[in-house]
Amino acid sequence: MDLGIAGKRALVCASSKGLGRGCAEALAEAGVDLVLNARGAEALEATAQDIRARYGVTVTAIAGDITKDADRARVLDAAGDIDILVTNAGGPPPGKWADWTRDDFIRALDANMLTPIALMTALMPAMIDRGWGRVVNITSQSVKAPIPQLGLSNAARTGLTGYVAGTARQVAAYGVTVNNLLPGSHDTDRAVALEKGVATAQNVSLDEARKIRCKSIPSGRYGTITEFGATCAFLCSQHAGFIVGQNILLDGGQTSATI
Ligand code: NAP
Repeated sequence: MDLGIAGKRALVCASSKGLGRGCAEALAEAGVDLVLNARGAEALEATAQDIRARYGVTVTAIAGDITKDADRARVLDAAGDIDILVTNAGGPPPGKWADWTRDDFIRALDANMLTPIALMTALMPAMIDRGWGRVVNITSQSVKAPIPQLGLSNAARTGLTGYVAGTARQVAAYGVTVNNLLPGSHDTDRAVALEKGVATAQNVSLDEARKIRCKSIPSGRYGTITEFGATCAFLCSQHAGFIVGQNILLDGGQTSATI
């Protein structure tokens, strides 16, 4: 399917690896020029070079912490006019409700709620002026069904979801769509980190830990960044112009709910 977005320009945040990279690759395959970002310059430049070589699109790499005001300003400055925005950043650490301080909440809200909002606030006015834009926020399945030890993430991402629900309806008339993608367990570095936690807690090997985690997923496996990226690219396509303010789960059926 021709997604109809060749020649558009996308900013994909936190995209040297994992889900962000999956989105960047799928957009590049559709002919979209990219601005990529991550904190580590070396991995970011390697990803940028790989995508340039494979898809022949223009790729600009801006190293920096997207959750920090000064770095984000540099990324936005270098990015210039953007048609497609994919927001993403690392998630807050796990813990227990009684231990979280006000500062922990402020950090989580800054990273996973106020940063995507700041990016949308900066980039959507020009999309509205041009009469076309796409925003996809990478959130989490925890928005639909909480993960108890990820209370900081549950809180910040649900706040972003509420903001998107209203804002998507304010900008839709101008050809700008805003939607959220909710990953369940995907095969990224984060999955390996979570497996290490299970391996330690249950005194099993990493392989066993992966099997234990996969058993709780009706598909019996993790999602891939290619599947995730393809869904993102479709949401950014010309065909998805009537999809507004939605929360799309990619979790292999793990969230057991009728709708
Ligand atoms: P990942 O494989 O660890 O990749 C994270 C990417 O984001 C890397 O490129 C990393 O590069 C970059 N990054 C992290 N923090 C950043 C920051 N502050 N500024 C700029 N770049 C940053 O992670 P992932 O699995 O793709 O997860 C992406 C998001 O989805 C996270 O918020 C995660 O909590 C959420 N999520 C993931 C899953 C899953 O199963 N994978 C499930 C639910 C939710 P640098 O480290 O060099 O900055």
